Amino acid sequence: MKLIDKGKAKDIYETDDHEILFYYTKRVTAFDGLKKGEFSNKGRVCCRLSEFWFKRFQEEGIPTAFLECMDDHRMIQQKVEILPVEVILRNYLTGSLWKRYNKGTAPLPPGTEEREGAMIPGGYVEFTTKFEEIDRPITRAEVLDNGWMTREEMGIIEDTTRRINSLMRYYLEERGILLVDFKIEYGKRDGKILLADEVGTPDVCRFWDLEEFKKGNIVRLDKDVFRRGTGDLDDTYLTIYNKITGEKLGN
Ligand code: ADP
Ligand code: MG
Repeated sequence: MKLIDKGKAKDIYETDDHEILFYYTKRVTAFDGLKKGEFSNKGRVCCRLSEFWFKRFQEEGIPTAFLECMDDHRMIQQKVEILPVEVILRNYLTGSLWKRYNKGTAPLPPGTEEREGAMIPGGYVEFTTKFEEIDRPITRAEVLDNGWMTREEMGIIEDTTRRINSLMRYYLEERGILLVDFKIEYGKRDGKILLADEVGTPDVCRFWDLEEFKKGNIVRLDKDVFRRGTGDLDDTYLTIYNKITGEKLGN
């Protein structure tokens, strides 16, 4: 099999013209690749959790590129043309939006209180660039002007992202996890928009402990433990895997 690319977290192999194979590695990066690390359980947690969510979304009729998982690290997807934007949905204020607000470069979403962890009424969908050196927030007008998607495609993407948010959010809240925000990628194949890449993992979502949040504390169960250097990524990822699936990944 031909290795066609090494991403920040996954190695990508081409199996034929229609399919690609991901190998979910132990690599982790943060701050646009500036901080790097390796954790032995990271690949399989992200591979198996992505599989878990892709299957749920497919059952709900959401079109995805996911085909199958071969083992704890290998996943086959339909090969798509990835759209040049990443889509972010935020339910609570934190991360880069909170940073940008404090620097004076972004307004607060309507109705949002000025504090980290404030709820964003109705959720907030943002787009950032995918194929630039640094992920840069862009307006809907810029996305359309660049011809990166049509207005109709943007509508489909926004609706699908909000549906995915509802599905994940309620499932997680029943298991004591707050879905704070997440990033997803879409691609196109034969003119159709498909959910691609990786979904519902602690690499691409922020998860906070719900009970602690109700008491006013933020306890992070995602890649922020690595970004902030506040905990062991392997432990955190195994814990969240267990909370979400009800199963334990053995060592
Ligand atoms: P990155 O460094 O861009 O985050 P990853 O390590 O996540 O890369 O590797 C996955 C790469 O494969 C990403 O560039 C992603 O956009 C791309 N990709 C994801 N799903 C598909 C797909 N179904 N077909 C083709 N490319 C994909
Ligand atoms: Mg990626």
